[in-house]
Amino acid sequence: MSEAVSTGRSVLITGGNRGIGLAIAESFLANGDKVAVTYRSESELPEGILGVRADVTDEASIDAAFKTVEEAHGPVEVLVANAGITKDTLLLRMSEDDFTSVLDTNLTGAFRVIKRASKGMIRLRKGRVVLISSVSGLYGAPGQINYSASKAGMVGIARSLTRELGSRGITANVVAPGFINTDMTAELPQDVQKTYLSSVPAGRFAEASEVANVVRWVASDEAAYISGAVIPVDGGLGMGH
Ligand code: NDP
Repeated sequence: MSEAVSTGRSVLITGGNRGIGLAIAESFLANGDKVAVTYRSESELPEGILGVRADVTDEASIDAAFKTVEEAHGPVEVLVANAGITKDTLLLRMSEDDFTSVLDTNLTGAFRVIKRASKGMIRLRKGRVVLISSVSGLYGAPGQINYSASKAGMVGIARSLTRELGSRGITANVVAPGFINTDMTAELPQDVQKTYLSSVPAGRFAEASEVANVVRWVASDEAAYISGAVIPVDGGLGMGH
């Protein structure tokens, strides 16, 4: 088997200043890629990672961020749409704004950055798009109608993108994490965390690096023939969907 040669590429991760996004950035950096991340607030990034300010709900700020990355690292060859939020509450309490704001960040935000990145990828005739979804997207979760809808929608994006651009050397895949130790899960009440833990066959939550490893691999040359796939990183939680 040939050795992986995917290194030195221009990689951009949205929401890469903390949590899973930062772990993904560090993984690509260790792989020898040129890594940029978007952040909204001030952030201290590890040396070697280029930080660009962008809000994925704002097309102009995305465009400005891409321009900075393209000048520094060249056209984005690997895009990881990772930025995401939750606004959990039960359906009857969920306002339309709770729903649309989560969709706007998680799903429309992914659309905006993918659209911007696709221009360069089409010209390069190669590219890797990885969307960070969630086990909730296909498995469902009470209190997460907004979040689940946004994460399920990513599957449609990846599959349609695969059909549109698959012949141009571009792949689009979904990585669907289960429970990962980050700020997002730390916010859950202790009793909820305990209930979730009891439902995970692996018997533990994962570290962000375990998601990052899968993202890095699916963006490598070795995974050139994988597209439109949903890859769970969930300790068996969502099996069967
Ligand atoms: P965190 O809450 O730790 O980080 C979220 C990241 O998204 C931050 O960098 C944040 O930036 C960024 N972000 C949020 N809104 C915007 C926006 N409008 N524009 C730009 N950036 C934004 O989350 P995690 O690391 O836990 O999650 C990362 C991804 O993984 C998310 O998409 C999440 O849904 C998904 N996921 C997480 C799981 C988990 O168990 N943690 C499980 C399954 C999926 P800022 O710091 O500026 O707020």
